[in-house]
Amino acid sequence: MSGIDLRAFTPELLERYDRPGPRYTSYPTAPHFTPEFGEAAYREALARAARRTDEPLSLYVHVPFCEHRCTYCGCNVVIAPHRGPEEAYLNAVEAELDLLAEALGDRRTLNQLHWGGGTPTYLTPSQCRRLHRAIVSRFPLAPGAEAAIEVDPCVTSPEHVEALAALGFNRISLGLQDLDPRVQEAVERVQPMALTRGLVTSARRLGFASVNVDLIYGLPYQTEAGFRETVRRVIGELEPDRVACFSYAHVPWIKPHQRRLEGMPMPRGFGKFRIFLAAADEFLRAGYRFVGFDHFARPGDPLAEALDSGGIHRNFMGYTVMPATDQIGVGVTAIGDVGGAYAANLRNLARYERAVAEGRLPVERGIVRTEEDELRGAVIRRIICTLRVEWDWVRERFGVEPLERFAGALEALEPMAADGLVEIRPAGLAVTPTGRFFLRNLCMPFDARLAPPGDRPLYSRTV
Ligand code: SF4
Repeated sequence: MSGIDLRAFTPELLERYDRPGPRYTSYPTAPHFTPEFGEAAYREALARAARRTDEPLSLYVHVPFCEHRCTYCGCNVVIAPHRGPEEAYLNAVEAELDLLAEALGDRRTLNQLHWGGGTPTYLTPSQCRRLHRAIVSRFPLAPGAEAAIEVDPCVTSPEHVEALAALGFNRISLGLQDLDPRVQEAVERVQPMALTRGLVTSARRLGFASVNVDLIYGLPYQTEAGFRETVRRVIGELEPDRVACFSYAHVPWIKPHQRRLEGMPMPRGFGKFRIFLAAADEFLRAGYRFVGFDHFARPGDPLAEALDSGGIHRNFMGYTVMPATDQIGVGVTAIGDVGGAYAANLRNLARYERAVAEGRLPVERGIVRTEEDELRGAVIRRIICTLRVEWDWVRERFGVEPLERFAGALEALEPMAADGLVEIRPAGLAVTPTGRFFLRNLCMPFDARLAPPGDRPLYSRTV
């Protein structure tokens, strides 16, 4: 199996494309959500979703707690070294589930359930059972539904894994980041490989159909050779079905705790990108497929197979082969995609708990998508998921003439075509193998809402 032709990637190429840009887990992106989208707008969106009774539904629940903060963390987290706050939180989640179930009427059956955080396994096994019961008693899982959970191996016990398997979870995602002890110490997350390996072995023995591993590149003290070694060991010792190899987003203006990393040697620019290329090279040599962005899938995994059939989709959780027309977000900071609108819940835990206790949907911000948003969002997802856009598909689906509507975007893409990132053909666009490493840049010309540059950057860097 061949790897990557590293000669295609030069410092000059990187310099041209390393700029702030969205990750496009949604379009419009989160900075465009506004407080004008309140409870009334959310109720209208839920009412629209309630009418689509035959369409697949997915539910994301956010468990925000962690015992300790990893220095690189970019998630929405409540640090709670001492147990206690989770009981009140579970009460609040149950109250929110009641409000949502009422608003959605008969539209209840889930084809996809995802627990994220924070650390969902901050909850004890018995609290996990309670949360699961709270969800499936209101939103039952369809036969064959995907039930996924993110876990931190440092706080996940064998009892947890057994409880989760018994509840019917079939996908488990483990944070790992890097195996180099110096990197682990720098980011304040020391996680021996034996711990992670033990968890993976238990998960497979208990019948989890898919084991995912999350790595991060761009952390202090990382080197190309060191990260290659991490990837080789991950492939050899864990054999994950899917891997997400995330770019570390250094955004201290949003996450001030990341300033603690600033005195350390941190790979940046071309050096950082070379670390990702090295990882991608190892995955491709081992037979994994590059799904796009930062995801790799083992041959035989549904995501790898869907690469050829065009059956890949993307939502707030990342890539999936199980599309759902509506995705409900439950819990503090959770984001949903419901009835043609994005709805983001309150970010403050006390305010979230108070809202649901008072019988109010805890929405803080959101946006109702316009027709133009739907069109541009669909083109952006097409680039990210299928690596091509066929103009006839745009014409049939949206009744617009893409060559006219996207004349400006096509002009902006010309230098990228000259750089070998995309082919602009009469029938559409095709992302090249080199262009797969620059998907955010290729999407940006279609983004009509890219914020003007200001004092406070909105997005992490694209490379
Ligand atoms: S375990 Fe995950 S969510 Fe919690 S602090 Fe670490 S990186 Fe953040």
